[in-house]
Amino acid sequence: MSQNDLSHDISKLDLTTSNQDSPHLIPTEQGAGFTKTAQIQLTQSNHESVPYHHKSILNSPLHTRPASPYTLKPPIDNDGLSWPSLGARDRIESNEEQNLQREKRLASAVKVILEELGEDPEREGLLETPERYARAMLYFTKGYEDNIRDVIKRAVFEEDHDEMVIVRDIEFHSLCEHHLVPFFGKVHIGYIPNKKVLGLSKLARLAEMYARRLQVQERLTKQIAMALKEILKPQGVAVVIEGTHMCMVSRGIQKSGSSTVTSCMLGCFREAQKTREEFLGLLGKRL
Ligand SMILES: [Zn+2]
Repeated sequence: MSQNDLSHDISKLDLTTSNQDSPHLIPTEQGAGFTKTAQIQLTQSNHESVPYHHKSILNSPLHTRPASPYTLKPPIDNDGLSWPSLGARDRIESNEEQNLQREKRLASAVKVILEELGEDPEREGLLETPERYARAMLYFTKGYEDNIRDVIKRAVFEEDHDEMVIVRDIEFHSLCEHHLVPFFGKVHIGYIPNKKVLGLSKLARLAEMYARRLQVQERLTKQIAMALKEILKPQGVAVVIEGTHMCMVSRGIQKSGSSTVTSCMLGCFREAQKTREEFLGLLGKRL
């Protein structure tokens, strides 16, 4: 079973339009991450005779690490929606009225939180806080509504360039899924092309798409790296993230000013120490 059989080739996708109706192949354990619609579509698909988790294990460059339902999933599926969560599809397909209802439900939940904290949600300063917070949360998690196809669009170019490409200091803001408080910092992305390059601004868009979801920094790092690997089939990909976690800083577990560094190296960055060192050298870091 070769890598090519199993990974979805983005070049075969129609990158110019958003076709939400295409067969939906979000990999996940026993449908845990599917909406109902998606499950039905999956059973109709003829791509999948091997159980997904099995295939993923064979395929994942991370297969030597402890299994995680996230890192073992190929990041790209046929409609370009990567690693969505339960309900992500509902959210994407909601109409205006449904969106409004969602906002209202969120707001009333926030009101309960305020009450339980001992506050008075009716006092002037808090009157519109539940609605404001609901909208803010939807914005902080807007990455669930993005998919790779829309993010990449027509920005994959054939190019005979085989030198390292690095975009560093991409700012990101994300939400820690354990505490629902922000973590933020910088993403550095490097890759060595193999006939294909991606428009530079798209690297930042890709990071933004994954960051605007409930995350842990380790997964965010891997998702960006694995998505790039699938999109470009490059010689190698390296992603380094430096993050400050409010859940740690504000509780004194992490000193403010310090940061958490995670990295994911694939292909030649993983295999060749020299390549990895060149990348880290160009970042100007001793990691
Ligand atoms: Zn946290």
